[in-house]
Amino acid sequence: MNKIFTTLSLSALGFFGTIAQNSNVQDPPINRCGSPKVNHAYEAAFQEMLAKHERFANGRTASVVYNIPVIFHILHSGVPVNSNTATTGRNISQAQVNSQITVLNQDFRKTNTNFATTVTQSAFVNAAADCEINFCAAKVSPTGAVLAEPGIDRINVSTKGWSALPYTMSYIESTVKPGSSWDPTKYLNIWILEFGGADIGTLGYAQFPTIPSGTAPVTDMVGQGGAANTDGVVFDYQYVGTTGTATSPYNLGRTATHEIGHWLGLWHINGDTSCGNDYCSDTPAQSSLTGGCPSTTGGTSAAGCGTVSPNPPGKMYQNYMDYSDDRCMSMFTAGQKARIQAVMANCVRRTSLTTSTVCSTAGVEENVSNIEMTVYPNPTNGELFVDVNLLDTQDFTISVVNTLGQTVKEVKQVQSNGGKIKIDLSDKNVGVYFVSIKSKSGSKVKRIVLQ
Ligand SMILES: [Zn+2]
Repeated sequence: MNKIFTTLSLSALGFFGTIAQNSNVQDPPINRCGSPKVNHAYEAAFQEMLAKHERFANGRTASVVYNIPVIFHILHSGVPVNSNTATTGRNISQAQVNSQITVLNQDFRKTNTNFATTVTQSAFVNAAADCEINFCAAKVSPTGAVLAEPGIDRINVSTKGWSALPYTMSYIESTVKPGSSWDPTKYLNIWILEFGGADIGTLGYAQFPTIPSGTAPVTDMVGQGGAANTDGVVFDYQYVGTTGTATSPYNLGRTATHEIGHWLGLWHINGDTSCGNDYCSDTPAQSSLTGGCPSTTGGTSAAGCGTVSPNPPGKMYQNYMDYSDDRCMSMFTAGQKARIQAVMANCVRRTSLTTSTVCSTAGVEENVSNIEMTVYPNPTNGELFVDVNLLDTQDFTISVVNTLGQTVKEVKQVQSNGGKIKIDLSDKNVGVYFVSIKSKSGSKVKRIVLQ
């Protein structure tokens, strides 16, 4: 199902703007996605990375749940939070952001409730995968401050000196992103705004991962992003989460699932050309991207690719990388998961996210001077010693907290002035943890690495 990309070359298309007019893609009435389309030079580097990654895995089944801290930059024009009207609906609520994070965690862990219903055709159920990606709301800013609203950075565009909303992708790339991006090695940057001008009607777009390739990393598609300060995804405020300004038929949070799919290295399911190649062997060829919802009861839709992709089952319109309505989407495949996992294990600014600690406030708690605590060895292979020295006898608790803020181990001491405490972490996943002591005197925190 390899087909040469026969339309205009991407460089001839210039910036994102005209891509939606690709004549081989049967677009729905609105432009569901403005992300770059299949680029075979980029893909060659991706395939090289994938092959190396799979050789390294040496037949083992990768089973790593990667954690990705997210920050939503919500762009507004000075309107109150959660003012959900046609003219002031750009400053979306925390509840709406939270509903989006919930959807992401369901879709990337295959716990979405519509998977088990008739939405997913039986012929595709076995191809579906738990991508083992988890998203958490950042709790700490790049300067170490605790965020008033987890996962949210509200930006009044007038105080930034930016043009009035709405924005084109060109303006977003040149001004908005470089002027508001948070360290992309620690955060997945998500911008929420209103698209306008040449890009009115766009639901969202994403920057692809940078591929490590010899001494010269392949930085996305030529002329289409790739820099650190433009890394991330952008959605229109009308297509975020499942509440507030979320607008049917894109009101179930799947615009984010789709765009973060691109951000993790996935192409559109039809390879952006009729019966083209998305470089996943378990997604059937299909003649075009799907508009609407072929059936709410798991019906088929002709793939239109002859014997290559018989009908039924036809199109895998349930795939998040199609253009179907949100209610019609329910799955990624194992082939798509393999690409996502390779990206998280190898790509610039993706691997570093896995050790980011910004979803926990444990590391920013006040350190008091009348508690002495030493933690060793660090890094540790599982056996950890905590030396505690208190000025007087008192109750205290030693906690080990992961980067999600979850306590994974706790030791309580009654009326003690300290000593050496052994903690076994050998059954925990490798990664960064915080060891804290809390007593009536205060608290103290140390960061450790379990390897
Ligand atoms: Zn897309």
